[in-house]
Amino acid sequence: MRLSWINGVALGSVIGIVGLSQPGFAESLFVAYPPGNHETVADRIFFIGTADPNADVRINGQIIDNRSSDGHFAPTLPLAMGDNTFTLTQGDETLTLSITRLPLTPPQPQGVAFAEGTLTPARDLARLPGELICFGAIAPPQADVSVLLTNRQIPLQPQPASAELPPNYAVLTSQTAPIEVAATQYAGCATFNQPGSFGIPEFRLTLAGQTISQSTESSLEILSPTTFQVAEVTVDSGIARTGPSTDYSRLTPLPKGTQAAITGREGDWLRLDYGAWIRESEVRLFESPMPPQTTIRGVRSQQVSGWTEVIFPLQVPVPVSIEQDTSSLTLTLHNTTPQTDTIYFSEDPVVERMDWQPILPDKAEYTFHLKQAQQWGYKLRYEGSSLILSLRHPPERQSSRPLQGTRILLDPGHGSSEDLGARGPTGYPEKDVALLVSKLVRDELQARGATVVMTREGDDDLYPQDRVDVIEQAEPTLALSLHYNALPDSGDALNTAGVGAFWYHPQAHDLALFLNNYLVETLNRPDYGVYWNNLALTRPSVAPAVLLELGFMINPVEFEWITDPDAQRALAAALADGIEQWLRQSS
Ligand SMILES: [Zn+2]
Repeated sequence: MRLSWINGVALGSVIGIVGLSQPGFAESLFVAYPPGNHETVADRIFFIGTADPNADVRINGQIIDNRSSDGHFAPTLPLAMGDNTFTLTQGDETLTLSITRLPLTPPQPQGVAFAEGTLTPARDLARLPGELICFGAIAPPQADVSVLLTNRQIPLQPQPASAELPPNYAVLTSQTAPIEVAATQYAGCATFNQPGSFGIPEFRLTLAGQTISQSTESSLEILSPTTFQVAEVTVDSGIARTGPSTDYSRLTPLPKGTQAAITGREGDWLRLDYGAWIRESEVRLFESPMPPQTTIRGVRSQQVSGWTEVIFPLQVPVPVSIEQDTSSLTLTLHNTTPQTDTIYFSEDPVVERMDWQPILPDKAEYTFHLKQAQQWGYKLRYEGSSLILSLRHPPERQSSRPLQGTRILLDPGHGSSEDLGARGPTGYPEKDVALLVSKLVRDELQARGATVVMTREGDDDLYPQDRVDVIEQAEPTLALSLHYNALPDSGDALNTAGVGAFWYHPQAHDLALFLNNYLVETLNRPDYGVYWNNLALTRPSVAPAVLLELGFMINPVEFEWITDPDAQRALAAALADGIEQWLRQSS
């Protein structure tokens, strides 16, 4: 399970008389999930637990059906808004849990008041002259709402019905429909044509003859269009996003040294002139008489031990974007004006042809048409102001043993008491079975001649970035992160099972699809599906990187398969076979 999305609470905490660190079956009543005093926005919740298989378990008096042969259970029950109490019993054992259901959208405020936390912008804001600046607030209907800013009054009008979007993880339970916001949202926009500081907006609300005012302590600044602050990326890989928070999607990471002018701010996020946002902590700032721009002339390539390097000599390190497609890769240089007449591309093992074109007014686009449909990885770096794009050559496999000459990275998910991952009905944690099965896969791959790199061999506490660093260091032929799954609270734990695969870069799509289908067919497992997913372990571009969810810890029957030693060995052998077959057909 990928921890980040489960309602903020990992399936770590337990309620019960005895927690089992071993898979087996329980002699007494035990609940692994939800934790005590759990809060959720879901309208239902599942209870993952186990008990003596030879006696009934009741929840609020109802017998729990569909238990596995070892006595595991996973019923889902509806939640009323607010506090809910559930009592589980078996014989004279009793467990009581209280679950609080929270509203998904802000409720209508009571009396003459703004709804808490709904005044926007909520952070310091900087924009260019003439840009639209919009203000928003939730307030009672029929109110007179406005914003006061340096003796300008900006009226806010009630918005026609608006909707909130469910969180990204709602895709995993197919509950993606927009949610209507019941409360009245007010909004209004204005432009400011002169640079300067405009202070803190004051929100005013008048209703039934009563007026209140409130502010968010966030100031507004209009930037000068002729003096430039430049951001230079100081981290190895600057995280560029489509907007000013980690909720926004990622763009091509910016190599260290990249420079761009700042055209906006929101809190500690900076908008760069080519449109992307980056966190201030990842750059250094300096004043400049003009925004960083470059021309480009000749482009050339060279081969360096297993890679083709394409060198783009530039005057300043400008922002770049990469777009990968089946058998092509396109690199875009921003803030760039081409003066190109000559390009030399030596006879190359991966690149069939390179085309380029200017995208007026200030971009240059280079498309690499590749000899193979399968791409094996790419890297970007700046050396001074020259951009180096490295394209990986296919693995050289020797015939002696099927995986001879390949280096395969295995990342057993989670690890340590700080990061248990999902927990099965007995409390047995994902981190342990992920490591156990990864070691079985390692042995199978080594037996076929592969060099195997493991991100952990023990119960280590690793951050996602630590694992990514190992991948970037090892530059494996392919990288696999092995996990076991769970669901958000509103999921159907009893009826959701199977293998799932997650990819991010198109170079990993075929591997994800192939391994998912191979395991489903070979082991006759249910198919949970193949997802595009923006995950730390699928984002490395240096090699095809896939995250596999090998089964659901919270499904009572599938948990017995997950923890069965024979099934674990069969799974490891099947995964190694699948990798071998995929490499044989793709390289
Ligand atoms: Zn996991």
